[in-house]
Amino acid sequence: MMNHNARKKSRVEHCVNPPSGDRLKILVCKPRLARQTIRLNRFIGCEPLEMEYLYSALQHHDVQLLDGIVDRRDPVRLAKKYGPQIVLFTSFITTISSVLKIAAQLKALPHPPLTFVGGPHAEVMPEHFYSQYIDGVFFANQLEALNRVIVSIQQNESYHNIPGGAFQIQGQFRRNPSLPLDPASLPQPKHILIRRFPKRYKIIHYKPCAAIKTSFGCPDKCTFCFCTEMHGGTFAVRPIEDVVDEIETIPVKNIIILDDNFLINRKRLLKFCDLIEKRALHKEFIAVGNARFAAQNADIMRRLRQVGVTALMIGFEFVTDELLESVDKKSTIAENNATIEICRELDIDLFAL
Ligand code: SF4
Repeated sequence: MMNHNARKKSRVEHCVNPPSGDRLKILVCKPRLARQTIRLNRFIGCEPLEMEYLYSALQHHDVQLLDGIVDRRDPVRLAKKYGPQIVLFTSFITTISSVLKIAAQLKALPHPPLTFVGGPHAEVMPEHFYSQYIDGVFFANQLEALNRVIVSIQQNESYHNIPGGAFQIQGQFRRNPSLPLDPASLPQPKHILIRRFPKRYKIIHYKPCAAIKTSFGCPDKCTFCFCTEMHGGTFAVRPIEDVVDEIETIPVKNIIILDDNFLINRKRLLKFCDLIEKRALHKEFIAVGNARFAAQNADIMRRLRQVGVTALMIGFEFVTDELLESVDKKSTIAENNATIEICRELDIDLFAL
């Protein structure tokens, strides 16, 4: 296994370092939600971790971040003023039309930038972004694929064969093979947005609230769940020491653990608790998990509460075992009820979905 220092070195290599010394001007844009979207932004404004990963990966370039969910600046006006060579969009399903509209306007500028799309929706449905106004879509190990594309652009070479991306060639998109993700090689996000704008990011009454991700995907396979399609349908975890290193750098008390399912491995969770305690990190965590684990591991839930897990988000989904079984949900109604009792006893806020 790679040790802690070797992992840090590998993360540094993962950053997009201009070989020629040229800094590229890059605008990272998360568009505002389409008008018809049901908005919860009075209650929830999640720190855009994906943008902060990009900021860290592109640290050798001149990068501007525009989080359209909370920042009202117009991306096209900003691009006119700033003159980026590349615009990177990060998109959910709710912002597909906005991405395509902004990209069309960018391509009409006197010096149009290259336009690329990534983010959760691109990972599962890259073809939704196949448009004459988009040069490429990243769908697997997106930071590594982006890294390779940027190096190719700087060296004036073609990027069209790079794995993990689908690229436009003469009006057609060619989807290249996938690229596996090694979570240990990801750069540590700098949390620059919550540092600059703490009041913008909150989860209900947890404000300000930062976000971290400790794992990717979920080993369960509930039939309705988008997460099972992410990361090529695989489950991968970050080394827990790296996660706690990152937590140490976060400037606010509240942190949501944005895993698809944090409650999976007893040993890993115990190590998480031990490290948080050893480093005397006084944080409050909101974790996303599942009722089966919570109900069957009351001792771990108690330990998590001791180190600051004060809220859980858990998918209860249905009110009968038949319906739970029908979607391959592994937990039962009895486990949902036991989870309520455990949370009540431990004074953990429970958001049952
Ligand atoms: S347990 Fe949760 S994250 Fe995992 S597949 Fe089911 S719904 Fe998705």
